[in-house]
Amino acid sequence: MRRVLVLGGTREARTLASRLDQDPTIEVISSLAGRVREPVLPVGRVRIGGFGGVEGLTQWLRDNDIDAVVDATHPFAARITANAADSTARAGVALLVLRRTEWSAGPDDRWHIVPDLASAADAIARLGERVFLTIGRQGVDAFAECPGWFLIRAIDPPSTALPRDAEVLLARGPFTVADEVTLMRDRGIDVLVTKNSGGALTSAKLDAARELGIPVVMVARTPIPAGVASTSDLDAAAAWVTQAKRPRHTKGRASECG
Ligand code: NAP
Repeated sequence: MRRVLVLGGTREARTLASRLDQDPTIEVISSLAGRVREPVLPVGRVRIGGFGGVEGLTQWLRDNDIDAVVDATHPFAARITANAADSTARAGVALLVLRRTEWSAGPDDRWHIVPDLASAADAIARLGERVFLTIGRQGVDAFAECPGWFLIRAIDPPSTALPRDAEVLLARGPFTVADEVTLMRDRGIDVLVTKNSGGALTSAKLDAARELGIPVVMVARTPIPAGVASTSDLDAAAAWVTQAKRPRHTKGRASECG
């Protein structure tokens, strides 16, 4: 048996886990941070909660005889991605990052690309007064001092400081373009703020912004750590798992498996 850790919290991670779960030679352990109150759980074994930084994850990989790690976390979960790169290097375990393709602007889009949330907060002052903030629940406090009115959409309520004038809308995608257009029109939105998460589940807001001629403040991704293999293709990730080189620490589990 190959034992694979899938760092999750995304639809891609769940799809990969269910794909690998069908292979009798692979045991999948999915890991979630535990941020969402009612997470959609992947099939198979699941562990929830942080590992305790690089030290903790390195030890966990050794203690659990992990053969390979697929980091299928969200493109903006930069800390766990950096930790996975360090820990797998230390433990001598193969690592692949599975990351969905970025969104890219078309000729009719009015994107303002910024490096982080603080820059996004600065940018909106020049662009609009009624802001649709779709960055999830984390990082909303970067906008706490901003003037203007905010529609904040997230799966769970933000637990940090909010802008003074704001409505929180709890919703989980996918959303349709028609619904996004109606929502933006209804709330009089004149600027959209989002992170370049990529993927089809939440891209309808970008189509709606284009249709309505609304500017988009797009927060760019942190790059994948240098030297780490990556793919956006699920089939390639599944194939990689079956071919991944066994780690140095693996002692062989023949006795465990009988
Ligand atoms: P982060 O800033 O990169 O990670 C912060 C800490 O949370 C990590 O150091 C780690 O704690 C723990 N952690 C993160 N992902 C984990 C996982 N899959 N399993 C176990 N521990 C994990 O991450 P984040 O931005 O807070 O995101 C947390 C989770 O939500 C991720 O799994 C991600 O896939 C999902 N998510 C994030 C976003 C987003 O916009 N950031 C959006 C949708 C889903 P220790 O150091 O203690 O190990």
